[in-house]
Parts: sequence; structure tokens; C-alpha cells
Amino acid sequence: MIKKKNLVFLGPPGAGKGTLSEVLIKETGISHISTGNILRAEIKNETELGKKAKGFVSSGALVPDELVADMVGEWLGKDECGKGFILDGFPRTVRQAELLEQALNKIGKKLDCVVYFKAGEELLLKRLTARLTCGGCGAIFNKIFSAPKQEGKCDKCGKDLVQRADDSLETAQERLKVYNVQTAPLIEYYEKKGLLCSVDSELPKNKSYPMLISVLN
Ligand code: ADP
Ligand code: ZN
Repeated sequence: MIKKKNLVFLGPPGAGKGTLSEVLIKETGISHISTGNILRAEIKNETELGKKAKGFVSSGALVPDELVADMVGEWLGKDECGKGFILDGFPRTVRQAELLEQALNKIGKKLDCVVYFKAGEELLLKRLTARLTCGGCGAIFNKIFSAPKQEGKCDKCGKDLVQRADDSLETAQERLKVYNVQTAPLIEYYEKKGLLCSVDSELPKNKSYPMLISVLN
């Protein structure tokens, strides 16, 4: 149902990359590689990588490029990425974009499209600080924009919903700052490569999702 299948989702925190990824993977069977989700799992399980990443993630800073790039390289090599993949939250720096290109070259793949999720800061902060995440399955809800049916419980698996530590107002502001300085230059980087297309992420997901599908065809 979509023609472009090897994808990068680019955009500020809170733009809805994770939320639209959930829908798209369900409908297409392509793989979801969320560096944020992988890092949070590594931190929870106290792995070597998790220990190295913890301080960066909790302060809203970026984890060092080589560390995340190696992690992503491993995922891209898996069979399940054969049908296509969404890189959600990676690359986040120009250096990471270069490392990604090298990793893809090595396995004979290339990107079909970089989707830029566009939204203003005021709305982003509102969304981030009202965001609730399921501790069980990782599903995303929002106290204001898409509340769960039962307060504090996941609609999908019934487990408790929590606020991510880095969704506090202070850390969310820091993440937006980091995005503007380190990640936003990727918009021009991919535009020059002719890979960029955009989706208006200020819209609710029942409007932005059809836009996403149309840019992927
Ligand atoms: P967001 O809601 O900001 O998109 P993510 O869940 O993608 O959040 O990421 C949470 C945190 O994990 C980031 O603030 C950063 O510390 C770390 N992280 C995720 N992806 C990367 C990456 N590609 N490079 C460096 N750090 C990353
Ligand atoms: Zn759940």
C-alpha cells in the first residue's frame, strides 16, 4: 500500500513521529526502529550500552553519534527490515546521517524518503508535557489530545501509563533546543539530496496520517 518503504522520520520531539509510526507499521508490516525506545529499553535493562547512555538521555542531551549509529547498524542488518523500515529519531546529527549512509551502502540498501514532521514549538511543548507512555507496550497517549479510555491505564495492554522523565517541562525545553541546533540542519541536508518530503504535524493524527500515506506513494 506504500511505494516508499525505507524511511527516516525527521522532526522535533513531540511532532508525532512515534504515534504515526505505530499506525504505519501496523498497516504495512515494515519495521520500526526507534532509537529512543531502544535506548530506554537498554537503560531499563541496565546493559553496558544503557549505562553509557543514561546520563545523556535523562538530561535531554544526545547520546554520542558512534554509539547510536552502531546500534542502528545492527538493527538494519536484521531480516525483519527486509520489507522496509522506519528510522524514528535517527539520524539526529549530520554525522549520524553520514554514518547511516555508510551502513546502508554496506548492506546494499538506500533511503526512499525522509519525512519531515513540521510543527511549532508552542504546540510541541504542550504535547510533550501532557504525553503519557505505556510502561508495558510503549504505546503513546496524551492527557489533552488523545486520552486513554481509563485514566492511567493503557488501552492496548492494560498496564500503567507513566510520564517519561524527559517529558518534564525543563527537559522538554532542553530537547527542543538540542533539536534546533543539532538536528534541524538535516532538513536542508536531505532536501539537497532530493529525499525530503513534509507532513503537517500540527494536524490531529486522523488528518496527518493520510498526508503521510500520500507522500509515501
Ligand atoms: P523524542 O520524543 O525527543 O523524539 P526519543 O524517544 O526519540 O524522543 O529520544 C529520547 C532521548 O534518547 C533523546 O533525548 C536522546 O537523549 C536519546 N536519543 C534518541 N535517539 C538518538 C539519536 N539518534 N542520537 C542521539 N541520542 C538519541
Ligand atoms: Zn500498553
